[in-house]
Amino acid sequence: MKASEVLNDLKRRFPNEPEYLQAVEEVITTIEDEYNKHPEFERYNLIERLCLPDRIFSFRISWVDDKGKVQNNMGYRIQHNNAIGPYKGGIRFHASVNQSILKFLAFEQTFKNSLTTLPMGGGKGGSDFNPKGKSDMEVMRFCQAYVAELWRHIGADTDVPAGDIGVGGREVGYMYGYYKKMARENTGTFTGKGLEFGGSLVRPEATGYGNVYFLLNMLATRGIDIKGKKVAISGSGNVATYTAKKLLSLGAKVVTMSDSNGTIYVPEGISEEQLDYIFKLKNIYRGRIKEFAEEYDCEYFDGERPWKVKCDIAMPSATQNELDGDDAKMLLENGVIAVSEGANMPSTPDAVRQFLEAKILYAPGKAANAGGVSVSGLEMSQNSQKFSWSAEDVDAKLQSIMKNIHEQCVKYGAEADGTVNYVKGANVAGFMKVAKAMMAQGII
Ligand code: NDP
Repeated sequence: MKASEVLNDLKRRFPNEPEYLQAVEEVITTIEDEYNKHPEFERYNLIERLCLPDRIFSFRISWVDDKGKVQNNMGYRIQHNNAIGPYKGGIRFHASVNQSILKFLAFEQTFKNSLTTLPMGGGKGGSDFNPKGKSDMEVMRFCQAYVAELWRHIGADTDVPAGDIGVGGREVGYMYGYYKKMARENTGTFTGKGLEFGGSLVRPEATGYGNVYFLLNMLATRGIDIKGKKVAISGSGNVATYTAKKLLSLGAKVVTMSDSNGTIYVPEGISEEQLDYIFKLKNIYRGRIKEFAEEYDCEYFDGERPWKVKCDIAMPSATQNELDGDDAKMLLENGVIAVSEGANMPSTPDAVRQFLEAKILYAPGKAANAGGVSVSGLEMSQNSQKFSWSAEDVDAKLQSIMKNIHEQCVKYGAEADGTVNYVKGANVAGFMKVAKAMMAQGII
């Protein structure tokens, strides 16, 4: 089948999976030219095989809350593609999780992992469990119940989960502990582990730092200095806070952060002390970003996203489709020069189109946020060597990987007018490697 026919067919077969179809459409439309240069791909129906996940596990998770009531959630693991290495991708705990969202994330992950230059296939998992307001013991019992179902399907050379929204060091620790008890092995299945039991230095920082490294590579193509630039960040979780930390160390001004309830606005830029407050607020007290506004008496936009404020750079780092066409229009009117995505698919197709047409520096998540999974790959290497590297070593490797991803985007995304279409670059580069591996391995 031709690439465009595959897309129409998927739309017919999965009409209730909008996020999955959105992610697939973006990739198919950008790789079509390259795909058509290889008639052997069509003969092997490669694109359809690459769009459909290898397998999906879905299961009920029953657990007991603090009041003794039995709760039931749905759990999933999507093993999308393992042509270039074991399935690899995070686990998301959020009330909105469903099969469409996890299929889009697993699909994106396959291309992202291909770009990292490391041998990792793509996967993703999660549950509609809502961690907000749950006690530590409830979170632990839920993690154990999730892994009780999942453990048979994962392993250090099979499928290696990690964190994502609602899953950080605490949750990975509980899941890894239970996995180890069931599997009776200590081989490092799961990344994002604590440093005391096989975790890698710089893994918590890696997605945010990596996004800033990618941004620096993009800015360098136009001779722009990051110092003094105003950056709007969304989210206040793992990715957002470490993005902000690295930006502050480089002399940029972080003017916004947010959560699902609203946005704080600090026109002169958040200080290191204030960022430390946000870090503790979110990770230790598990509070809301509004409390920052009360503590520091700054502007708070209740129920709003950050994109209306004047900024030079936008780094959406919360969730999918959090920046729409109207937001993109506003950012462009306010003179934004770069958008670098920490979250997965945060910009809607309308927003992406506007960024590309305006020829600003626009980096899609699968390139810009690949630093997290890259250091996860480095954690896997350290686990199999039974050895750990210094923070300097890991950070240097992260910088070099992000530079390499940037180069691949430029190679496949360079336009005749001298600009770079990073969407096309990332998709074609990611696709070609997986496609060649799939061709070499036959119809399986
Ligand atoms: P966290 O759970 O640590 O933080 C998520 C942040 O986003 C929170 O501030 C949360 O606010 C906000 N958020 C979540 N859902 C929504 C929503 N529907 N609307 C508005 N805000 C929302 O997650 P991460 O920082 O790990 O992940 C953020 C993004 O980065 C995701 O898209 C994830 O897939 C992506 N990513 C993460 C990687 C990692 O290493 N962790 C790697 C690569 C990509 P609230 O507290 O109110 O829910």
